Amino acid sequence: MNELTDSKRSKVFFTTFRCKPDEGPVDKLKRLLKAAGLDGIDMDGKFVAIKMHFGELGNLSFLRPNYARAVADMVKAAGGKPFLTDCNTLYPGSRKNAIEHLYCAWENGFTPLTVGCPVLIGDGLKGTDDIPVPVPGGEYVKEARIGRTIMDADVFISLTHFKGHEMTGFGGTIKNIGMGCGSRAGKKDQHCNGKAVIDPAACRGCKRCLRECANDGLVYDAERRVMTVDADHCVGCGRCVGACNFDAIGFAHDAAIKELNCRMAEYTKAVVYGRPNFHISLVCDVSPTCDCHAGNDVPIIPDVGMFASFDPLALDQACVDACLKQTPLPGTQLTDEMDSGHFCDRHDLFDNTNPNTEYRTCLAHAEKIGLGSRTYELVTVK
Ligand code: SF4
Ligand code: SF4
Repeated sequence: MNELTDSKRSKVFFTTFRCKPDEGPVDKLKRLLKAAGLDGIDMDGKFVAIKMHFGELGNLSFLRPNYARAVADMVKAAGGKPFLTDCNTLYPGSRKNAIEHLYCAWENGFTPLTVGCPVLIGDGLKGTDDIPVPVPGGEYVKEARIGRTIMDADVFISLTHFKGHEMTGFGGTIKNIGMGCGSRAGKKDQHCNGKAVIDPAACRGCKRCLRECANDGLVYDAERRVMTVDADHCVGCGRCVGACNFDAIGFAHDAAIKELNCRMAEYTKAVVYGRPNFHISLVCDVSPTCDCHAGNDVPIIPDVGMFASFDPLALDQACVDACLKQTPLPGTQLTDEMDSGHFCDRHDLFDNTNPNTEYRTCLAHAEKIGLGSRTYELVTVK
């Protein structure tokens, strides 16, 4: 038995997106959350953080605000004071400081009017408003740097869009919490041991990656017409990986990705440990990369369903297991990889979509440090 679950088999509640004429997906989500026990949490008079990702400007795969409203409404009905939150990014884009981040959230539809609660950026104007949070049992991180506003909340809820990810294989609940709640310093802390590597034979010198790096980690070699990495400046954020259309950028050692995975699990534990927490994951629009990119490619599998649990690890495990049962959709990044001359089948659709990634270390380490359980009971809500 671990600290965050009642038994070795955590319950994960699931329902599909199929709807009858008299009940839309938002009401179905509410029914799922009720069955999963969200309204059993004591939220009366308490600040309740709902952690989500508002989507980079241009991206359209992020979760619709309507789902956030459903969660906020349930929190308010239980007497809580909800707010939607996310922390600033480590890279350029539309969410790198609180002002731009808020404009982005509003433009993507997350306004108090639409979601029924305030939107607060978790780590302040410039991503520096964080507090050190101890990680019980942490092996890589002793103190996580978490956005202060998020840690000030009495109750923590994550609302996650489950999809592929160019560094961590899939972007699920642990990614949403661990990386997403880290301040800029916290994000650097998780990425610090991985440095990007560019294959000069694959690089076409298009410079697309250069626009994505906020850390002077890339230097263009005009003589050879290839991009190179300045390892002294690269913090391993992975932003450039998703920007390269030619698979020229990867990470030097498998260990870099594995360590990132472990640190992310430890950051997640820092966020949820010692306070009521609950987790929701919607497996729809499963794009090959995360919602941090303006461009979102078409989904690699059909929409799967909505999942909820008190156990963030069991939730990620259940979501990935459900995805692996799906048949890949044609004409996607996944099938492009499968049709390419260099394809090496790893028998896993996330590994095959982003061949330089792996996610199992994250799940295994999360279990090792007592974040939750990979063994779960799936309870289907009709
Ligand atoms: S995006 Fe890829 S191909 Fe273009 S310069 Fe960067 S590494 Fe080279
Ligand atoms: S991984 Fe390194 S080079 Fe690539 S965007 Fe991040 S800091 Fe820049």
